[in-house]
Amino acid sequence: MSDTMKAQVFYEPLVMKYEDVPVPEIMDNEVLVKLKAVSICGSDVSYYYGHSPLDTADGKGPLYLGHEASGVVAKVGKIPESLGLFAEGDRVTINPVQQCNACPACLRGEFNVCPNCEVIGVSVNGCFAEYVRVKYTHAYKIPDNIAFEHAALFEPLACSTHGVFDLDIKLGQTVVVYGAGAIGLFMTQLAKAAGAGVVVTIGTRDYNLDIAKDRGADHVLNIRDKASKYYVENAADKVKELNGGDLAQRCIVATSNMDALQDALNVTGAFSTIVYFGLPSPDDLLKIPVLDAIQSERTIRFAWLAPLVWDNVIHAVGSGQVDLSPIITNRFKLDELEDAIRYMAESKDPKIKGVVIFD
Ligand SMILES: [Zn+2]
Ligand SMILES: [Zn+2]
Repeated sequence: MSDTMKAQVFYEPLVMKYEDVPVPEIMDNEVLVKLKAVSICGSDVSYYYGHSPLDTADGKGPLYLGHEASGVVAKVGKIPESLGLFAEGDRVTINPVQQCNACPACLRGEFNVCPNCEVIGVSVNGCFAEYVRVKYTHAYKIPDNIAFEHAALFEPLACSTHGVFDLDIKLGQTVVVYGAGAIGLFMTQLAKAAGAGVVVTIGTRDYNLDIAKDRGADHVLNIRDKASKYYVENAADKVKELNGGDLAQRCIVATSNMDALQDALNVTGAFSTIVYFGLPSPDDLLKIPVLDAIQSERTIRFAWLAPLVWDNVIHAVGSGQVDLSPIITNRFKLDELEDAIRYMAESKDPKIKGVVIFD
């Protein structure tokens, strides 16, 4: 193995360079992973354009972005080696949110709010490189029937799964999934698999809504494009009509659009549960009619990241309960990353997720 590798080094907004860098040295509690597929996340796009700061000491690079990834184990640190946990060549997916396991939040299993998290691709070097070092507790083996490019989607799928678990779907319930991007499309499938009777997916692009329909949505609504065959003026009215005069019992919001966050309160009725999931800006505020919420016994929850769901995700994909193939619409090489990020952010072409594929 050579001691240098290729990496896309993010220096500052709009400045990324494809360089030769040293292969990372692993610590005793880590494994070195040779990357096979790395998905481009909306947050990578946001860091690239400078819309959000990195989680490094000064919020800036240089850093390799990329946190949704899969690969093969190339080197095993002393601790996992002594435990016999990994061998070179093991196929793995990566959980980038590496909690400390020692703070009060971690003691309670609330790993997603650990203040000492090392996040691959956000606070420490990430996966837009040939190799990445990962704590052995955060590289999870995957079965042979799962493709690397699918395993690169496990992080956003895991976050979606945590959100759907919070939704607490009961058999037969009507569930609205608000948003039809990659996360909304994951949630559509997960809601159905979790026992929803009827799933209504609401979006703004027919290309995405057709995939939702194909993957289990019973109804799809387009609330923006008047030319769409799925167009509706008022989502709540339509949900009521589709649901025998009743509003939905569950709604999960997979978008940061504030109108959608607000409308989730309209599409759901008494004793309903809403889970908010997007990434709104820090100043966004939600208006909740409190008296109505009290008198209708509403539950409103918020979901963040993906604690304790990775085993569910690996088995849900391995067994075919969730199909990831329609989600990947664009494939790139590592040396094209900058163009790929711009394309995913700026092009109006129909697309869901772009993935960097390594040879
Ligand atoms: Zn992500
Ligand atoms: Zn912690």
